[in-house]
Amino acid sequence: MRSAAQPQEQFRSFSASSLYCPQCRQETPVRERLLLVLPDGNLYEYCCVHCGTSTGSKTEKEPNTSRILY
Ligand SMILES: [Zn+2]
Repeated sequence: MRSAAQPQEQFRSFSASSLYCPQCRQETPVRERLLLVLPDGNLYEYCCVHCGTSTGSKTEKEPNTSRILY
């Protein structure tokens, strides 16, 4: 008994494959660019593949340091 549908997987692959570009006025494929390496993760910038406009960014946490310690 296994479910065929895997909505979580679908959601993961969806993350920032295309974003709305204000220059192109539509959703466009993005190019991921490493912007900064931070102690707690990497900052990525997403650029429109057509015009190069920055359409978004994300911080990707290191998997082994995802827990915040104070
Ligand atoms: Zn664009």
